[in-house]
Amino acid sequence: SDHCLAYPKSPKDMDWASHYPAYAVQHDSAVRTEDESHDAAQVSSRRAISKPVEIADIGCGYGGLLFALAPRFPDTLMLGMEIRISVTEYVQEKVRALRTQNAATNGFQNVSCIRANTMKFLPNFFSKHQLSKIFLCFPDPHFKQRKHKARIVSYTLSSEYAYVLRPGGIVYTITDVEDLHRWMVEHLEKHPSFERIGEEEQEQDECVHIMRSETEEGKKVTRNGGQKFVACFRRVEDPPWP
Ligand code: SAM
Repeated sequence: SDHCLAYPKSPKDMDWASHYPAYAVQHDSAVRTEDESHDAAQVSSRRAISKPVEIADIGCGYGGLLFALAPRFPDTLMLGMEIRISVTEYVQEKVRALRTQNAATNGFQNVSCIRANTMKFLPNFFSKHQLSKIFLCFPDPHFKQRKHKARIVSYTLSSEYAYVLRPGGIVYTITDVEDLHRWMVEHLEKHPSFERIGEEEQEQDECVHIMRSETEEGKKVTRNGGQKFVACFRRVEDPPWP
């Protein structure tokens, strides 16, 4: 159950520095309310980071995609979001190990993972237009009709993805379930904030190749000789207010 999950009140309430210590900057601020004497002034010390997270892997599983992307985009901060405790802990443990192994080159400082139900409160983690890429790789298919509401693509969730994604940013989707592929295409295509990216451009994007080959599910589907369906969507500019 995710009832006991803690969510930040807003993106600035996240302790990002604990996730990306190599990017931490110190912000010491004296917070004093009007009726407090100088002595009683509360000094809070919040550690922020020098650049925002730009890539989110939603339902990251064991983190195969992130660990492949991290060295390809060494200056871009990326975050896996996963609902299962043990899986989140596995990814966090692997991040620590890879950072230690690659300490000489500062490798894998740009990758982290948090436990979260991404169907809830995504805008509490990311501010408007913060992200450049969102990955939805092999989401749980929830085959039965009455379970469709548990799918991580819907009109409402597309609006949340559009909020946190900057214009020009991309939502990447991949699945081996053709029905789910059609569902994701249908919901994202009808959303006014997204347009589907053509096949030629899609195939030129190295992230597409990485998500096909480096996700744990992608590897499993290859082993079983299954098909993989890919669809990518660009976040378009918001129309001007009338
Ligand atoms: N993306 C990985 C891959 O391609 O190998 C894992 C795919 S796995 C089939 C789906 C993952 O999404 C599982 O690890 C599951 O725990 C996670 N998940 C499902 N619903 C979620 C939610 N609402 N929030 C966060 N993670 C979720």
